[in-house]
Amino acid sequence: MRMLNQRKLVIEFGRKLVSCGLTTGSGGNISLLERKQGLVAITPSGVDYFEITPGQVAVVDLSGKQVDGSGLPSSELGFHLALYADRPEVNAVVHTHSPYATTLACLNWELPPAHYLVGFAGSKVPLAPYHTYGTPELARAVVKAMRGYNAALLANHGLVAVEGTLPRAFAVAEEIEFAARVYYQAKAVGEPKILNAKQMKAVLSKFQTYGQQ
Ligand SMILES: [Zn+2]
Repeated sequence: MRMLNQRKLVIEFGRKLVSCGLTTGSGGNISLLERKQGLVAITPSGVDYFEITPGQVAVVDLSGKQVDGSGLPSSELGFHLALYADRPEVNAVVHTHSPYATTLACLNWELPPAHYLVGFAGSKVPLAPYHTYGTPELARAVVKAMRGYNAALLANHGLVAVEGTLPRAFAVAEEIEFAARVYYQAKAVGEPKILNAKQMKAVLSKFQTYGQQ
C-alpha cells in the first residue's frame, strides 16, 4: 500500500480533530504531502473519522489524479493542492469548521492579534472571501489570502491551517481556534486590546527560533 505511514497519520489527526473539538462528524479535512514522490494522502469524503481505514484514505498526485485508496478524495482537494503548488515549504493542510474561528468567519471578520498565539498564523489571521465549497474559485481565494500567513478564515465556512509537518499544521488550527475563542469572549464583554506591529514582530521572531536550539 502506497503512503501507508502518511495515511495512518491522516487518520490519527482526523480523530484528533473530533476529540479536540475542532470539527464534528465528517466535517473538515486533512492532507499530507510527500514531496519526493509528489503524492498527497487526503481524508476521504463523507466518512466518519473513527471509521476510516488506511485503505480508504485517498492518495492523489499533484494534478489531483487518484492513484490509490478506495475512498473519494475530500471535496476540498482543490485548495489543498493549490496550497501545495503555491507554498513550497508547506507539506500539510488542516481544514476545520471549528466553532469560534467559524463564528468570526461568518461575521466576515479577520482575527487580529488580541492574543499573541495568533502568531502561529502570522501577524493576524486574514479572511478569504466567500465562494461555494469545493470550487476552483474558493481554491484561488484561499491561496491568495494565505500568502504570508499559515492560516486563514474562510468567509461563512471555517478555517484553513498549513505548516511543514502535520503535527505543526494541527497545532496552528488548534491555537487559532483558541485565539478566536478568546477574541470572541473578550468582544462579548469589552473591547480587546490588540497587540501592535512591533509586539507581534517580537513574537514572530521568537516563534521562528522556537524548538531549533
Ligand atoms: Zn469545509
